Amino acid sequence: MKMLTDKFGRQITYLRLAITDRCNLRCQYCMPAHGIDIVDRKDLLTYKEMYRITRVLSELGVNKVRLTGGEPFVRKDFIHFLETLSFNDKLDQINITTNGALISKHISKLETLGIHAVNLSLDTLKADKFKQITRRDVFEETIQTLDKLLASKLTIKLNVVILPGVNTNEIASFIELTKNKDIAVRFIEEMPFNGTGLRKTDEVWNLDKIYAEIQKSYKNIIPLVDKKSSTSKNFKIDGYTGSFGIIPAFTRTICHDCNRIRITATGLFKNCLFDDGVFNIRDFIRNGASDDELKELFIKTVQQKPINGFVAEANRKNKKVSESMSTIGG
Ligand code: SAM
Ligand code: SF4
Repeated sequence: MKMLTDKFGRQITYLRLAITDRCNLRCQYCMPAHGIDIVDRKDLLTYKEMYRITRVLSELGVNKVRLTGGEPFVRKDFIHFLETLSFNDKLDQINITTNGALISKHISKLETLGIHAVNLSLDTLKADKFKQITRRDVFEETIQTLDKLLASKLTIKLNVVILPGVNTNEIASFIELTKNKDIAVRFIEEMPFNGTGLRKTDEVWNLDKIYAEIQKSYKNIIPLVDKKSSTSKNFKIDGYTGSFGIIPAFTRTICHDCNRIRITATGLFKNCLFDDGVFNIRDFIRNGASDDELKELFIKTVQQKPINGFVAEANRKNKKVSESMSTIGG
């Protein structure tokens, strides 16, 4: 079988697919309060196109898919799409990243479909702060989802974007969640773009600073052996059930064994979070491309994968990364 391997010998096995660019929340670090450009519905990939892209990629060795967005659950019939995708036996893992506000009623269905992991984004454990960060009043719904996820068989990761002066004082509270619960909390470096250009932050909380903050409260931190191509540096507190990690999203120290590609909701293929998109698969498909032509294109494009996110950013035609993660497919 032909595989997707880049010129640095990295094999691509992981697709992050954005289901939509729409979202029911307006997180400060991700989207402006008003006026984000939403693409026309006809420009979004259809589920049939997404299924085909995933099938073709799985025939080239992709065995893990993360469905993200925007908020995947705001797109009509998403559960039905999951059901269809779950029939692809070349996929070892289907994972979802979600803000959780709409999903508590779907959790048993996700279990039945064999979804592997749900990454729930939750940046605070306080209702008023939640409303301030997300500009929406759905804290209770999100916590209900967290509780139901914890009671389920699904693997759960909690994504916490570290926001200077907003939730940095809650880092230890998040780690305490791992005391008796089998959950992986991952602190994410904030990337300073939210769809309106560069977002100004007074302080930079990078991996080292986040770790130093944790060391102030805990002396018994055990480093874990990170899985190959892991996006996070992982640890646990001695005696705690769960674990925690730090994702150097902006300092980009995890690029060396990257195994990921991204496809946005409009079908833009991205070799790296920081590139500006290599080609549009949607147009290629709508112009009648065969599966073999698609495969050739994927194989050729992956060859151009830059060594790391800094090179990807430097190679951009439009130099500044300003897109929202909801468009990129976080
Ligand atoms: N709506 C879903 C959610 O929030 O989980 C999926 C899409 S969201 C873009 C995916 C992840 O990207 C979330 O965990 C979110 O916190 C993260 N994210 C969004 N903007 C970010 C930024 N500027 N810096 C770091 N992480 C960001
Ligand atoms: Fe929506 Fe997720 Fe972006 Fe928040 S982080 S605005 S939930 S896409």
